Amino acid sequence: MFRRKDRIEIKTPEQIELMRGAGLVVARTLELLRSTVVPGVTTRALDAVAEEAIRDHGAIPSFLGYHGFPASICTSVNDEVVHGIPGDRVLLPGDQISIDCGAILAGWHGDAAITVGVGEIDPAATELSRVTEDALWRGLAAARIGNRVVDIGAAVEDSVRAEPGGTAYGIVEEYVGHGIGTSMHMDPNVPNYATGGRSPLLAAGMALAIEPMVCAGDRTVRTLDDDWTVVTADGHRACHWEHTVAITEQGPWVLTALDGGAERFAALGVASPAAERG
Ligand code: MG
Ligand code: MG
Repeated sequence: MFRRKDRIEIKTPEQIELMRGAGLVVARTLELLRSTVVPGVTTRALDAVAEEAIRDHGAIPSFLGYHGFPASICTSVNDEVVHGIPGDRVLLPGDQISIDCGAILAGWHGDAAITVGVGEIDPAATELSRVTEDALWRGLAAARIGNRVVDIGAAVEDSVRAEPGGTAYGIVEEYVGHGIGTSMHMDPNVPNYATGGRSPLLAAGMALAIEPMVCAGDRTVRTLDDDWTVVTADGHRACHWEHTVAITEQGPWVLTALDGGAERFAALGVASPAAERG
């Protein structure tokens, strides 16, 4: 899976700045979508909001047409894990939706996902989303010079397992994070679990999308007949959170977070260029 460091795209600081531009388009689009998620809205309506927002920022929705994907976002509800296709589904109170969004600006990609409750949701569902998002931030914090790719997955898995009841959660292994830059999906793969073994050293100028998918039950997943939607085999809920992060000399910089990760990293005691530049 991992071999040659020279297959990982290294960006100049100027190119990372351009990626920040793409990341902010994704961040602002997801913020807009967060407030658009209300009972009664269809996932297709969310997709329309997303496409308009991305294009209004002068960017291109990277998912649209990707291997034939028919929309600008993925909308995965309840037991759907990832790659749900927007459509006629009406969101109901108590639903929980993961929204994955990607945009290209000036040739550079950003990719991020959030999970949002629809109206009032079950406390266990809220907790599952928190556990997944916290694990993502532990993974992002591990995206620093001197660490290896495997350290990210180990940080994500350790975070989930350290939670109360953490051993009962399933961490999806079939879908992983990835390098990102001039394409959405590049080397290296970034698993969300501890793989052990060899993996590339992280270096300044690398950019990665880290995206844990955590299930309330078993981690086994299957793909529906639409050839896209991935669901948990046991029907339990799953949450998906994702950010694009740049590895810099000053620490990780979360390109798809509005504040660059400043608040979260401060709480974790992690040095980041976001502390000064947002
Ligand atoms: Mg994504
Ligand atoms: Mg991704």
